Amino acid sequence: MPIQWFPGHMASARKKAADAMAAIDVVIEVTDARLPEASSNPMIGELRRFRNRPCLKLLNKADLADPAATQAWMDFYNRQPGVKAVAISAKNPSDAARVPALCRQLAPHRDDGTKPLRMMIMGIPNVGKSTLMNALLKRKVAKVGDEPAVTKHQQTLDLGPGMTLTDTPGMMWPKIDYDSDGYMLAASHAIGRNAVIDEEVATFLGGILLERYPALIAARYRIDPAQLDGPALLEAVGRRRGCLVKGGGLDLEKAALILLQDYRDGVLGRISLETPESRARMIAVADAA
Ligand code: GDP
Repeated sequence: MPIQWFPGHMASARKKAADAMAAIDVVIEVTDARLPEASSNPMIGELRRFRNRPCLKLLNKADLADPAATQAWMDFYNRQPGVKAVAISAKNPSDAARVPALCRQLAPHRDDGTKPLRMMIMGIPNVGKSTLMNALLKRKVAKVGDEPAVTKHQQTLDLGPGMTLTDTPGMMWPKIDYDSDGYMLAASHAIGRNAVIDEEVATFLGGILLERYPALIAARYRIDPAQLDGPALLEAVGRRRGCLVKGGGLDLEKAALILLQDYRDGVLGRISLETPESRARMIAVADAA
């Protein structure tokens, strides 16, 4: 089942974002370092280029992501004009504290002591925007939640002398061009729990884990990942964890939730769901089909 939204408010979201962008100097785009492309909204890049605004691209939750993949993504993004990519953990106050200086470097024309540096945070739900804003403001202003769409109203806040920070204008849903984007987002909990079927998402996640991180699977569940595919992995996890339905069959939904939760909590280890290479391969295959 492909995962997709029909938001119906795309045009108004675009207009809002375009207007908001006209009044700022630097876009801070927050993405999830484990799935940087799947967790981005292409409209942000489009409008940013249209408005000619530089972008600080934050690969957040880097503490959960595979460092080699994160480095590959930073190299990838840093080749793009007007973009500075940095990996951070917004939960770490010293990482967040680097953000204003990085923005300053991107907008040197605002550094004459008279004009404030106006920054705007953008990104899809659940990538860590509120966490970052709270860290930057050093006090709790934005409600942080583990459910998508917690940030509702746009606000501009004073960030100390000569700096303002505006939060994301309206909802920035991901644009899901490929089915795997939907699965990656669902696995990473960037989209609502009810929108998808856990078992399918966990099977997809299992396929990636078996291909790229078999040793982490073996260590966590004490199973031999060789010869397994996504569905067989779910069964193996279910057996190992005693996930049974009445009558003795395997409760695959429960097994799916265990795998998903372990990935989301980072207890499997540091995992990235896509790299620049894997994404290029995925797109080539999908477009050829
Ligand atoms: P928003 O919807 O983009 O504002 O996202 P939130 O700031 O509400 O964060 C969504 C979830 O991700 C929350 O459970 C945060 O605690 C968590 N989170 C945010 N930043 C980080 C990070 O750097 N590392 C980890 N491990 N979790 C994070």
